[in-house]
Amino acid sequence: MITENIRSIMQELPPGVELVAAAKTRTPDEVREAVEAGIRTIGENYVQEAEKAAAAIGRSAAGIPLRWHLIGRLQKNKAAKAVAVFDMIETVDSIDLGREIDKRAAAAGRTIEALIEINSGRELQKAGVWPEKAEELARELAALGHLRVKGLMTMGPFEGDPEASRPYFRETRLAFEHLKSLAVPGVAMERLSMGMTNSWRVAVEEGATMIRIGTAIFGPRS
Ligand SMILES: *Cc1c(COP(=O)(O)O)cnc(C)c1O
Repeated sequence: MITENIRSIMQELPPGVELVAAAKTRTPDEVREAVEAGIRTIGENYVQEAEKAAAAIGRSAAGIPLRWHLIGRLQKNKAAKAVAVFDMIETVDSIDLGREIDKRAAAAGRTIEALIEINSGRELQKAGVWPEKAEELARELAALGHLRVKGLMTMGPFEGDPEASRPYFRETRLAFEHLKSLAVPGVAMERLSMGMTNSWRVAVEEGATMIRIGTAIFGPRS
């Protein structure tokens, strides 16, 4: 089913929108099947799961590099391990976290791509910066030599009705376009990561360039 699921989503995706397989709780065999079906970017929520999967699957498939993205929270004490396994960290939401990633990436001789996570629902207990704070954080992160800001990511509040997510995706896209128009030196606005199994069609309509899909690829999580 994994292969068929990926084919049918890819057929529906407009050009330029990348399908990221959200692999939390899935086995390396399941992730490998997704890679064989054409997935080139794997989103992981936990550093340890990513280390295991990357060790089992490797960093390329059919001669094409595989990319590992952290889509879950990063605790600062895991930053050293994270920079060894991930190409991109999609959940940077403070300068403290950015500095820690930068420091660890420098020590590892790597440069890590980052997305700024936007708390588009302005929910106090949730991760991410409020949309109007994205510019300030982008300017601070731009000073770091081993971290490259590539765009924005948002979860949006969880809602059953995908239409309920639309205003949050729209607000994130407006923040993305605003930042892009500012052309802050050292900050690239190329990637807008939003949309999950129930909401990706709405996210794509609102300008997503990456969607993060778990259930619709792998089936329900047990
Ligand atoms: C689990 C997860 C997804 C995918 O969720 P599905 O509803 O299973 O598609 C996307 N993004 C993040 C950050 C996740 O944790």
